[in-house]
Amino acid sequence: MHFCKSKKHVWSSKKDAEKCCNGYERVMVFGDDIPPNAKNVQINSDTGIKFSRIWVKVSD
Ligand SMILES: [Zn+2]
Repeated sequence: MHFCKSKKHVWSSKKDAEKCCNGYERVMVFGDDIPPNAKNVQINSDTGIKFSRIWVKVSD
């Protein structure tokens, strides 16, 4: 387990922990909005719609 920069959240992946509270935010994307390199794509069993959560850089 890895803590993020703020130590408020815990991630199983070090890569995720490095982005959390560190200039990125986690957003949910659906269907064609899912980038080809997304690794954690899931499919809603009721609707068949693909979805994933990806990191997006926060613009400031
Ligand atoms: Zn965090």
